[in-house]
Amino acid sequence: MPHSKEQLHTFAELLKQGELVVFPTETVYGLGASAWNPRAVQKIFEVKGRPSDNPLIVHISNVDMVKEFTPSVSARAKLLMQKFWPGPLTLVFNKRPEVPDIVTAGMNTVALRMPNHPTALALIQLSGPLVAPSANKSGRPSPTRPEHIYADYQRKLPVIDGGICDIGIESTVLDLTVNPPVILRPGNITASDIYEACGFTPTDGSDTKAEAPKSPGMKYTHYAPKAKVRWFSTGELSAVAGPALVLCHTSEPKMPPAATGLFWRGDYPGFARELYDTFRKADRDGFDLILVEEFEPEQLAGNERLLSLVNRISKAAGPGS
Ligand code: AMP
Ligand code: MG
Repeated sequence: MPHSKEQLHTFAELLKQGELVVFPTETVYGLGASAWNPRAVQKIFEVKGRPSDNPLIVHISNVDMVKEFTPSVSARAKLLMQKFWPGPLTLVFNKRPEVPDIVTAGMNTVALRMPNHPTALALIQLSGPLVAPSANKSGRPSPTRPEHIYADYQRKLPVIDGGICDIGIESTVLDLTVNPPVILRPGNITASDIYEACGFTPTDGSDTKAEAPKSPGMKYTHYAPKAKVRWFSTGELSAVAGPALVLCHTSEPKMPPAATGLFWRGDYPGFARELYDTFRKADRDGFDLILVEEFEPEQLAGNERLLSLVNRISKAAGPGS
């Protein structure tokens, strides 16, 4: 249901008093807390069951807020902000010492993003900067519609209903504290988008198996349904004997008798938007196995945005997939 201006003021007041509020963004729903209130931020970790070494992204509504969190903004950072904000690009800066440790998991960097969603921007304008991880219980797929939040938390959290999130996959995270900048998490904004807009190519750091990854969140199993997730190629499908939910984005193979097929017919943005909802549906419908059609190398070469989809499905499938 759409919310009124008065309701938005009420939600902003709750945030200012140190309460948590779930709000929509163009990527996924965020579980918001006031970024300058460590006790409120602590509640996020408790409510989500989130490991304390996983830092949070600070959401802002205007570029002046950047200066509260980082002492220096390079010309390159300014250009990225100008080209991609508001939008699904998180930028990692060196932090000011005053930024609470609980926000950054004790690191000397802070992640900032301006979401491209009118409700999120209006809320932050009223409440001030908000830390907001995805509003799921830790380990569950990120919520892309209000039902997902109610499934994880019943009606315990205040939720601003913004319908279905447009992109459905978390933001690109770009580390600007190194040269060249590194993409720590792939998202809807790709290395080519950044090259075309800003004239430099970031390095891909999302697959690093380093002991202390720069983006600690990426080491946890994420985005996963309870069902097992496996890639398949269309030739293997006839060997599937038991029940399975089969996700096809490109081809339309004949389904084995016990399998249920879902088809996106080349609509990759639609597949991304519905991925987490489909994961959650599979659990609700009692599927133990989700099979996802593999992407061909030529497809990936021709459409970099698919990398974020492949990344989330591979994370859900687990190591070695
Ligand atoms: P989530 O809030 O669940 O979408 O996850 C936030 C992501 O941003 C995680 O992968 C974090 O590791 C990453 N992140 C947040 N802050 C930082 C930071 N200061 N440096 C590197 N990565 C960060
Ligand atoms: Mg998350």
